[in-house]
Amino acid sequence: MVLEIKKAGAPVLKEIAAPVTEVNSEIRKLMADMADTMYDSDGVGLAAPQVGVSLRVVVIDVGEGLHEMINPVIIKREGCVIDSEGCLSVPNITGEVERAEKVRVEFINKRGKKQKMTADGLLARCIQHETDHLEGRLFTDIAKSLKKEAKKKK
Ligand code: ZN
Repeated sequence: MVLEIKKAGAPVLKEIAAPVTEVNSEIRKLMADMADTMYDSDGVGLAAPQVGVSLRVVVIDVGEGLHEMINPVIIKREGCVIDSEGCLSVPNITGEVERAEKVRVEFINKRGKKQKMTADGLLARCIQHETDHLEGRLFTDIAKSLKKEAKKKK
């Protein structure tokens, strides 16, 4: 089910999201709906606060398959790269954002199992962008510069 995406200015986007305490059918339904919503908008990632749910859940697909992460925590960051970024909650704006080049992330999957993953490139950028949403942070808060444009990403 495609959900409504909250836009910048919505209070939920500024909140620190709560950890998921139990991975149940409700959480799995939320993740499925978030994935539907992300694909429907041609995004590469979506965090639960963007659909109005203040929980630590993100979905990501940069074109290599769907990643679903519950309570993701970046445990290691390496390198530094500046690149253009956008957000489904901030339509028509892109910005240059400095991110770690490579990250290691720990999370719980939809079966309740603890997982670890190392990512670089767009996937690493996306993980950092989405986990920022869980802290109530938008890319526009940390971008070095912002630009209005018609195309959208993330
Ligand atoms: Zn975003």
